[in-house]
Amino acid sequence: MTELSANLTKLAPTLARFKADGVMNHIGGNSQPALSGAVFDNASPVDESHICTVARSDVADIDAAAKAAKAAFPAWRDMAGTERKKILHRIADLIVERAEEIALCECWDTGQAIRFMSKAALRGAENFRFFADRAPSARDGQSLPSSTLINITTRVPIGPVGVITPWNTPFMLSTWKIAPALAAGCTVVHKPAEFSPMTARLLMEIAHEAGLPAGVWNLVNGLGEEAGKSLTEHPDIKAIAFVGESRTGSMIMKPGADTLKRVHFELGGKNPVIVFEDADLERAMDAAIFMIYSLNGERCTSSSRLLIQASVAEEFLGKMAARVDNIKVGHPLDPTTEIGPLIHQTHFDKVTSYFDIARTNGATIAAGGTTPDQPGHYVRPTLFTDATNDMRIAQEEIFGPVLTAITFNSEDEALQIANDIPYGLTGYVWTNDLTRALRFTNQLEAGMIWVNSENVRHLPTPFGGVKASGIGRDGGDWSFDFYMEQKHIGLATGTHNIQRLGA
Ligand code: NAD
Repeated sequence: MTELSANLTKLAPTLARFKADGVMNHIGGNSQPALSGAVFDNASPVDESHICTVARSDVADIDAAAKAAKAAFPAWRDMAGTERKKILHRIADLIVERAEEIALCECWDTGQAIRFMSKAALRGAENFRFFADRAPSARDGQSLPSSTLINITTRVPIGPVGVITPWNTPFMLSTWKIAPALAAGCTVVHKPAEFSPMTARLLMEIAHEAGLPAGVWNLVNGLGEEAGKSLTEHPDIKAIAFVGESRTGSMIMKPGADTLKRVHFELGGKNPVIVFEDADLERAMDAAIFMIYSLNGERCTSSSRLLIQASVAEEFLGKMAARVDNIKVGHPLDPTTEIGPLIHQTHFDKVTSYFDIARTNGATIAAGGTTPDQPGHYVRPTLFTDATNDMRIAQEEIFGPVLTAITFNSEDEALQIANDIPYGLTGYVWTNDLTRALRFTNQLEAGMIWVNSENVRHLPTPFGGVKASGIGRDGGDWSFDFYMEQKHIGLATGTHNIQRLGA
């Protein structure tokens, strides 16, 4: 038996369960269909086969979930941080126990390759452990004494929050947003992406099994324009943590204004990897290839614009095209696969439309630009060269395994090209000149920058973007800044003079 067929065999019982039950909501501790009974279909990007039906929720389901989250909030807020820590660690333990099942489902539902997804499930467990350990100190504050008062600060959880997640690495991203909210003492209504509902359901089952009290975490499935929009409008929801496209972020901000919602946005990117002639070019190439072609290129932090110094460009791009041609496109459950099928037909159509756009723009397709002749949303990894930064292929987030290469002559020109974009999520700089690295990173407009490295996530560091790539930061204590309110309490130390009006 090949490893692919062994993985298909392992996945079969979970798929049968999903087919029989569908993906239900989980509100106030109960699994239930949408109150209207409506469903939508979920298909696999691998072969477009039907996986299951999914609850198509509307304003009534969101209202029920928000009320459940509101009712559960006081007890969860007031539970000792040490107790919340224990429950969150139990969730992490159960994620680890079911990591293989989660990874297989994620691949089947999203088309992501198993070689990356097995680690993504474990990353989800790490997110829970990281924030679990911080739960006991989440309310800590400062003492800021003045001559007449002892001023103390403390943090309190903001209340029930809405979490809206996208379809790219949905399991990992859900844990990344939900774990700190729970650790802070907030209750949650989660609306996962309609294209990838399976692992959010598994995660909810795990939380339930771990003993999370009813109503603390509610799952409501549905479409963005229906369930998602209702969540952003609900008066009991105090904040929205959103991961998705930049224009969806704008759409969420508008209805949020009526109820003065706090928002945290992790949005799109068109991230530059800048390779100077003095860099370790082999490592730079490994990292650039990894950062755009892993995870099907469906990754917000992907290095989708390669800025390469003209003096080394011809040789670098020649070698790169050969490497890209060599990347293995295949079934996501085959461990040798490097790129699986794209999430959905509409996304496949969007990504492949850029092949013609590149030709019309006058760029060269140095690798890929085709689709394999087989069912499923498969795309050959693609490299565009001879591009300029004003082309659509250089300015727009394609969100697939597609890299646009642009040459530059000087450091100033590289900086100007790198910053000439609406986005500012990540940047990757390759140089062995320390002073240049310091100078360049100081002026590069991005929330996160790596020098001589691919994106290596370290949970205590701030994660987020500038410009159209986001508002706010996650990671470390920054997550608690979003999910909690600062409170100041001033205590008089004596009888200081109080002005006496009308005395
Ligand atoms: P999307 O914006 O289409 O959808 C994301 C979520 O928002 C889904 O759950 C969707 O149902 C919901 N939604 C859609 N319209 C809504 C509305 N009007 N009101 C409320 N909710 C609504 O994004 P996607 O296509 O699922 O994901 C890909 C995008 O996410 C890319 O742009 C990518 O860069 C971005 N992303 C960013 C980060 C980051 O950390 N910056 C991480 C992952 C993905």
